[in-house]
Amino acid sequence: MSHTVALGEPTVGPEELAAVQRVFDSGWLSGAGPTCREFEGRFAEAVGTAHALATSNCGSALHLGLEVLGVKPGDEVIVGDYTFPATGHSVMWTGARPVFADIRPDIWSADPASVEASITERTVGIIAVDVFGQPADYDELRAIADKHGLFLMEDAACSAGASYKGRPAGSLADVATFSFHGRKGITAGEGGALVTDREDLATHARKLHTYGIAPALSREGSSSLPIPSFDEAGYNYRLSDISAGIMMAQLDRLPGLVARRGQIAAAYEERLLHVEGVTAPVALEDRVHPWQSYVVTLDEGIDRGVVATHLRQNGVQCNFGTYASHVQPVYQFDRSLPVSADLFMRHLAVPMHANLSDADVDRVVEVLTEAVAVAR
Ligand SMILES: *Cc1c(COP(=O)(O)O)cnc(C)c1O
Repeated sequence: MSHTVALGEPTVGPEELAAVQRVFDSGWLSGAGPTCREFEGRFAEAVGTAHALATSNCGSALHLGLEVLGVKPGDEVIVGDYTFPATGHSVMWTGARPVFADIRPDIWSADPASVEASITERTVGIIAVDVFGQPADYDELRAIADKHGLFLMEDAACSAGASYKGRPAGSLADVATFSFHGRKGITAGEGGALVTDREDLATHARKLHTYGIAPALSREGSSSLPIPSFDEAGYNYRLSDISAGIMMAQLDRLPGLVARRGQIAAAYEERLLHVEGVTAPVALEDRVHPWQSYVVTLDEGIDRGVVATHLRQNGVQCNFGTYASHVQPVYQFDRSLPVSADLFMRHLAVPMHANLSDADVDRVVEVLTEAVAVAR
């Protein structure tokens, strides 16, 4: 019996270990230090924004983004429905209300028509989610945001290495947020980043991410004894310099990881054409999909639970796709969003990571073909 094919797997090795050693040698392990600063410079360059702030995770970056954009209790923020609920939660943390928009049936990001129909007098902004990394419809969303005087945020948690009409993910909205969790396309185990072109937002977010004062690094080398004063109750949302070191090695790997995952996606697509009952995901021509996950859609009438059990019993890991937010009890959301609700029940994530071999892909498709046959 061959090995289990993992659903997702980080690609890490001697380069990351050497980066950690360098941080140890530097003597600065805590967050917002010299290694974070270096990583932030490189990350901003990679995503094409003027500023980047390394954060403890994507949820904290989303929260900071909403706070610096001025979201307050009573406001409404429109959120693409199909996402890990960090997106909706971050709106709740500000005291505002997430209003979920239904999604496009092909690429699963917010349907611009549903976004526009969700606008009320209380709406202050839109968070578009790049589902599994593929960028949402930023031209259309920007037009809607501008027409109604709203901010636009990009939940780019899965989007490292993606692009939209030649522009990198992260540069597509007023503020974008990334995740470096172990299940994302590049990782330090945990971590995140907020990126923006706006200096005022970046400066305010930097202050809020370190309890409401300028980071200690900015006081280093001063011959006097500057004593910061607190005028805002900020948070500790820092990334450690150890993690920032790992992220620099991951950034070096990013083009290779995206290229390999693209090859795997192409191999899956070709093979899945011959598997009845299973539809491959769509990657639009005008964007680069970084394939954080590979999620197929099962035909109606196929029992997903039976498919999953068969896959797992035969050494192939799988999962559902991501969440329909509007059905989560925490949000008490009272409208139905049929496209998102339907795909939440029919999606199946199959193994996708750069460490898969071509033989692994063949095996996944073979076992999936059998699984669907038993589940009809
Ligand atoms: C993973 C994910 C998050 C949360 O990221 P953390 O770093 O775990 O906070 C937010 N949004 C989306 C779309 C995600 O996939």
